[in-house]
Amino acid sequence: MSLRFNAIQNLSFKPEEKAEHPSKITGIFGSNVFTLKTAREFLSDEAYKSLQSSTKASQKIDRSMANQIANGIRAWAESKGVTHFTHWFQPLTGTTAEKHDSFFTLKGDGTPIEQFEGDALIQQEPDASSFPSGGLRATFEARGYTAWDPSSPAFIMEIGNGKTLCIPTIFVSYTGESLDYKAPLLKALESLNKAAVDVCNYFDKNINKVTATLGWEQEYFVMDEALFNARPDLVMTGRTVYGHSSAKNQQLEDHYFGSIPERVYAYMRDFETESYKLGIPLRTRHNEVAPAQYECAPIFEEVSVAVDHNSLLMDVMERVARRHNLRVLLHEKPFAGINGSGKHNNWSMATDTGVNLLAPGKTPKTNLMFLTFFVNTIKAVHDYADILRASIASAPNDHRLGANEAPPAIISVFIGQYLFKVLQDVKERVSDKMDETDESLLKIDIHKSIPELLMDNTDRNRTSPFAFTGNKFEFRAVGSSANCANPMTVLNTIMADTLKQFKKEVDALIEKGEKKEIAIMHVIRQYIVSSEKILFEGDGYSESWAKEAEKRGLPNVKTTPLALDAMVTDKARHLFERNNIYSHSELEARHEIELEKYIKKVQIESRIMGELATSHVLPAAIRYQNLLANNIRGLKEAGLKEAAYSNQKQILEKISEHINKTSDLVEKMIQARKVCNSMDNTRTKAIAYQSQVKDVFFDEIRYNADKLELLVDDREWYLPKYREMLFLR
Ligand code: ADP
Ligand code: MG
Repeated sequence: MSLRFNAIQNLSFKPEEKAEHPSKITGIFGSNVFTLKTAREFLSDEAYKSLQSSTKASQKIDRSMANQIANGIRAWAESKGVTHFTHWFQPLTGTTAEKHDSFFTLKGDGTPIEQFEGDALIQQEPDASSFPSGGLRATFEARGYTAWDPSSPAFIMEIGNGKTLCIPTIFVSYTGESLDYKAPLLKALESLNKAAVDVCNYFDKNINKVTATLGWEQEYFVMDEALFNARPDLVMTGRTVYGHSSAKNQQLEDHYFGSIPERVYAYMRDFETESYKLGIPLRTRHNEVAPAQYECAPIFEEVSVAVDHNSLLMDVMERVARRHNLRVLLHEKPFAGINGSGKHNNWSMATDTGVNLLAPGKTPKTNLMFLTFFVNTIKAVHDYADILRASIASAPNDHRLGANEAPPAIISVFIGQYLFKVLQDVKERVSDKMDETDESLLKIDIHKSIPELLMDNTDRNRTSPFAFTGNKFEFRAVGSSANCANPMTVLNTIMADTLKQFKKEVDALIEKGEKKEIAIMHVIRQYIVSSEKILFEGDGYSESWAKEAEKRGLPNVKTTPLALDAMVTDKARHLFERNNIYSHSELEARHEIELEKYIKKVQIESRIMGELATSHVLPAAIRYQNLLANNIRGLKEAGLKEAAYSNQKQILEKISEHINKTSDLVEKMIQARKVCNSMDNTRTKAIAYQSQVKDVFFDEIRYNADKLELLVDDREWYLPKYREMLFLR
C-alpha cells in the first residue's frame, strides 16, 4: 500500500494529549528563564548588581564577575535538571543554531566535575565555516565567535526529556563583521534610541530612552505528519510543488469563523504551555482564512526580545507538532490556490516615561509629538521603500508579494481617512507666513476623534503592506518563515536616520530665530509634501493600483533577485554606514547570502519537481495509460465498434498528451538549470534561476501534472491530494 493510503488509514488514530497544562498561566510563565528575579535568588549582591547593570545597558558582563554569574546560572539550571548548555544564535541561514556542551568535565587528575566557567558564558567559538558569510571569511580570514548579550536572558529549552541551558548570543567575526541577524538589529535599535530621544526632548526633557516595540502575528498551517511524510516536496521545500486544488477550498470562508479542530487545539495548548515557560507572552490564537491555516500572536515586547521570542516560538512549534504526529508548515505558500502565510509586524516606539510615540496624544503638545513621529515614519518609508522591500524579499515570499495575494510588492502606507485629512490640513494651513499668532494650528485636536480613528484604521484595508492601526504601524509584507530581525533592522534604521535629519532641519530653523513649535510644524509640512505619494487608501491588490503606483513612481519589484538590488545601492550603503549598522563589505556579504539562499531554494524546488515528475507522477499516469490502452485493444479485439471505446480513447489521448508534455518540460528544465549553474556571477545566476527556470517551467509542468492527477485512477496516485492534506485531521 502506498504511503498515501497508509497515512489516510491511520488518521483515525488520535494521540492523547501530551502535556500537562497549568490552571493558571502565571504559575509557569517564565519558569524556564533566568530572569533578574531568579538571578536575585542565585547570585551574590555583587554579581547581581553587575548583571543588572549589564542587562540594562545591553553590555557585555564584567569579566571579573563572569565566573560568579556563570556559577549562579549553572546552579539554577541544575536545580531544573539541566546537564548541557549551548550558545544559541540566529545565523543567516534563517533557523536558529546551537551546539551543546556538557557541564561535565574532567580535572587535570581525572576527577569528574560539573562546571560552567565565566568564559564559556561570555564567549564561544563555534565552527563558523558551515554558516554563510557571503565571502566575509575569505576576505578577512575571520573566525567567528558568539557573545552573550545579557539584555536577552538565558533560558532552558526542553527537548523530549532533555533540557539544555541556552545562552542567547550574537555571532560576529573576529574582525567585527556581523554574521547573524541579531548584531545589526541591536545596532539599529541603539541608533533609533539616540535619534528618537533627541527628537522627544523637544517635547519632554524627561525622556531618556526610547525602545522600539514589536508584536508579531505568526500565521501557519498544520497537517497530519503521515500525510506530510508522503509528500517529498513538503519534506524538502516546505511547499507543495504539485497538487490540483480540491473541489472545496476557502471559498465558503467557513474555516475562519469555525471552531479550532480538536487535534490542532491540543497541539496549540501544548506549544503555548512550552512558550509560556520560555516567557513568550502568547495571547491570541485563531483560525485563519485558508483551510488548515491558523495564527497566534503575543503581547508586544521590545523588538530585540520579541525577535528572539519569535525565533524560539517557531522552533518550539516545530518540535511540539511532532509530539502530536502533526507538522507545522511555516512556509509562506505551502499550497497553491489558497492564502499563503505572513507575519504581520506591529511596530511602535515607547519612551521610558511610558508614552507610546505612535498613539495620538491628549494635549496639543503630545499631539505634536505624535504627529512628528507619525510623519517621520511615513517619510522614512517613502524615502527607503526600496530597502524595506528588499528586507522582506525571499524565494518563498515571492509567492505572496506581487502574486495576486496580500500584500502587493508595492510598498505604500495606509493611514485612514481621518489622519489623511489631518495631514492635508497641516499641509494647507502651515505657510511661510505663519508666525506665533497662528498657534491655533498647533491645537489640532486629534484626541477627540480617537474612537473614529480606531474604527477607521483597524478594520479597513487588509491589502496594505504598511498600515497605521490606531497606535502602531503594521508591516504586513513580512513572510511567515522570516526572521523578523531583518525587516526590523531596516525599519528602525530608516526611522533613526529620518529622525536625525528631522532634528537637523528643525534646529536650523530654530537657529534662524524660529519658535520651536513653528519650526517643527514647518518641517512636518515639508515632509508631508515630499512623501505623500506613498500614501494609499484603496485596494492594494487591484490592477488599477499597480498602474497608479507606476504613475507615482513607486517601485513594484516582484522578484527577489531584483528586489535585493536595493541593498547595495549607494543610497543603502550611505544609510547603513551613517548609522553604523553595516559596513560596505557587510552589506555586500548579506546581499550575496540572500542571493545564494534564493538560488538554492529555487534549485531544490526545481530538482524535486523533476524527481517527483519522473518517480511519482509519470509512473502512475503511465500505468493508467496502459490500463486504458489494454482496455481499448480488448474491446477492439472483441469486435466492438469504435463508439464502445471512443471515450476511453479520448481520455487516453489527454493522458498521453500530458505525459509527453510533463516529461518534455522536465527534460528542458534540467537543461535550463545546467545553463544557470555554469554562471559565475551570483546575481546573474539568481535572475536566471528566476526567469529561466522558475518562471518558464514551474507553472507549466505543474499544470500538466495536476491535470494528470485529475485524470488518473485515484488508487494509482501516490501523492496525498489537497483535499486530504487540508481537510483530514
Ligand atoms: P489585531 O491586529 O488582530 O486587531 P491587535 O492590533 O490588538 O490585534 O494586536 C496585534 C499585535 O500588535 C499584538 O501582538 C499586539 O501586542 C501588538 N501591539 C499592540 N500595541 C503595540 C505597540 N504599541 N507596539 C507594538 N506592537 C503592538
Ligand atoms: Mg493586526
